[in-house]
Amino acid sequence: MRENAVVARSHFTLSLAAVRHNARTLIGALGGAELWAVVKADGYGHGAADVARAALAEGATALCVATAGEAAALRPDFPHARVIVLGPSGPDDVRAAREIGLEIVVSDGPVPDGVPVHLKLDTGMGRWGLSEVPAPGRDVVGLMSHFASADSDPAFTRLQTGRFLEATAPYSHLTRHLANSAGALRYPEARLDAARCGIALYGISPFGGDPGDDGLRPALRWESEIALVKTLRPGESTGYGRRFVAGAPTCIGIVPVGYADGFRRAMSGTEVLVAGRRATVVGTVSMDALAVALPDGGSVGDPVTLVGDGVLIEQHACVSGTIGYEIACGLVTRPPRAQR
Ligand code: PLP
Repeated sequence: MRENAVVARSHFTLSLAAVRHNARTLIGALGGAELWAVVKADGYGHGAADVARAALAEGATALCVATAGEAAALRPDFPHARVIVLGPSGPDDVRAAREIGLEIVVSDGPVPDGVPVHLKLDTGMGRWGLSEVPAPGRDVVGLMSHFASADSDPAFTRLQTGRFLEATAPYSHLTRHLANSAGALRYPEARLDAARCGIALYGISPFGGDPGDDGLRPALRWESEIALVKTLRPGESTGYGRRFVAGAPTCIGIVPVGYADGFRRAMSGTEVLVAGRRATVVGTVSMDALAVALPDGGSVGDPVTLVGDGVLIEQHACVSGTIGYEIACGLVTRPPRAQR
């Protein structure tokens, strides 16, 4: 058994060019409706400020976040941008919104004074939202709703669109916005005045397939290197629970990346690139390390591409039984970040 322990980690690189390309693609698809960039959850794990800057530079006209805290973190970098807080706002959030010039969403209860408000209707999501449009006061600037299944259920998406159009028809002087990425890409009738797009901006398909099918480019690369190479003899195993036991002499590489970095435990079995070739993740992904099978051998220092060059977040999501959104939002900042 050969052991070559080195200290290596991993790093993310955000392609601003890809974010800008995706923003242009969405703006093109929207045919005149405004693009509002959804950069909540630190830009779906990609870095909110960098993504926001790239999207605004390409023509996005507002930033959407989930909480007033997320908005406050962005405000110093974007003193003049429209920032809309999508999540429910309590009294402290409303106060912050007045102080730093945010717009808020009201989906329940009274409409506060002195802050621009978007009224949210529940057209079928079955979460937050009013069941009908109250007489809009002077601070109401927008009417909105949110799709439950624009990625997968055209009939229900059309039903929601119809309900929204009917309920908001008397208020066409207000900004009406309904579509998320999937809605913006596939449902022209839902584009209206503005679309709130997140996942597509990052070059991740809202439909779980290849983002290239919708002209999108993945914005994130995640790279590491092989830190240790060893050959397991028949009957030897790697990782917790001995879930991979070698049936024959098997060369494996250890990558110093684990679920504490965002490489989920359930992603065992997915593929990454080692020195440009596909390699399968074997055994249990642990907190700080994972193993890959290297049937043709490998060397310490071989580059490992965890995401990028055709290794898609959607592929990892499919293997681990989740969606690209969850993988992206789970990427933590332990690896250093860069831009290009
Ligand atoms: N609008 C609202 C209210 C949301 O909560 C989200 C994200 O969850 C979006 C728009 C953006 O959705 P997507 O990332 O699918 O474009």
